[in-house]
Amino acid sequence: MPYCPNCGNEVTEEDEFCSKCRAPLKEPRLRPVRRRDEKDEKDEKDEKHEGDQAGAIVGGLVVIWLGVSFALRNLGYYPWADMGGVFLLGIGVILALRGLWAYSKTGVFDQGFGYVVGGGFVALLGAAIVFQINDWWPFLIIGLGAIIVLRALMVQGRNPRP
Ligand SMILES: [Zn+2]
Repeated sequence: MPYCPNCGNEVTEEDEFCSKCRAPLKEPRLRPVRRRDEKDEKDEKDEKHEGDQAGAIVGGLVVIWLGVSFALRNLGYYPWADMGGVFLLGIGVILALRGLWAYSKTGVFDQGFGYVVGGGFVALLGAAIVFQINDWWPFLIIGLGAIIVLRALMVQGRNPRP
């Protein structure tokens, strides 16, 4: 048997108001529904906010990497000619990590696929410049194979066999 939250009088489920003090009894039942709606809205906002943060993090990492590649160059780790390649290599890795992060967050492969592929090729291009590989087309084949393997692994991970 439920009790009136106001006066403690015994009431029935069907009562809309307490028979003793006239306090409304249906309100507590409505409130949880309203709360859940508010929570859903909040979750959506958080998700959107998170997406914005990812862009800011990538932007920040790119700026940091630009500074690091200049610093390493100034310390004499590589000549000016390799600067662009080193920078591209880092950008590619950052973009690929962004894609993997998006995938791990959402579990949706296509969310991060573009980043991983794009970042991977930018990184390969950078590596080709740094290591002065003129015939870097074999890396395209290696990259293409890696994409196929990666895609298969991720799809398998999403739909594990029983
Ligand atoms: Zn009452």
